Amino acid sequence: MDIQVFTFNPIQENTYLLHDGQGHGLVIDPGNSTPGEHRRLKQAIDVAGLQLEGILCTHLHFDHILGIEFLQQQYHCDFLAHRQDESWLRNISGIAAAFGLQVPDMQLRLEKTLKDGDHVRVGDIDLEVLFTPGHSAGGLCFYAPKEQALFCGDTLFAGSIGRTDLPGGDYTTLIGSIREKLLCLPDETVVYPGHGPATSIGEEKQMNPFIQD
Ligand SMILES: [Zn+2]
Ligand SMILES: [Zn+2]
Repeated sequence: MDIQVFTFNPIQENTYLLHDGQGHGLVIDPGNSTPGEHRRLKQAIDVAGLQLEGILCTHLHFDHILGIEFLQQQYHCDFLAHRQDESWLRNISGIAAAFGLQVPDMQLRLEKTLKDGDHVRVGDIDLEVLFTPGHSAGGLCFYAPKEQALFCGDTLFAGSIGRTDLPGGDYTTLIGSIREKLLCLPDETVVYPGHGPATSIGEEKQMNPFIQD
């Protein structure tokens, strides 16, 4: 599995493009929001000759979904997320404006939902869905056991954790999700967060001040 990371929009959100080496691809958390960002992502997909077969969202905060409409227009694929984050799809431009960002209004409909234990299979890629609420009510992580890679959105960062002050957020729930669902993964698991650099489960167990006992 090949992983490409793009950092998009003023919130510096990480968008991941995964491909299986045989022409099957999917995008996790498309935050592309300008014509230039759209172009960069489309170019990567097209240069690799990928058929984009899905868009996965760790959660539906506006900085992680700004590129969904563009990708759907270009590639006609579904986007998948947890049902409990659906309310973030109402009034996306209003929410973005509250964070100081001007974006055109978009109407996104959650066609397919994911829950804990589901698997998303695209070509040779197999991602296990982990339900990790706390940063948002419907927070998900995607774990690739074969490659020992984890896409964790804003649940866990290198040296930090996601904020819990937005609607649906809860600190105790977030810590519980990280302890029960993430820290039990192998130490070598590479962690690809929604913002900032990649890290590993082992490193966070040792260094992250928020999850020490
Ligand atoms: Zn978020
Ligand atoms: Zn974010």
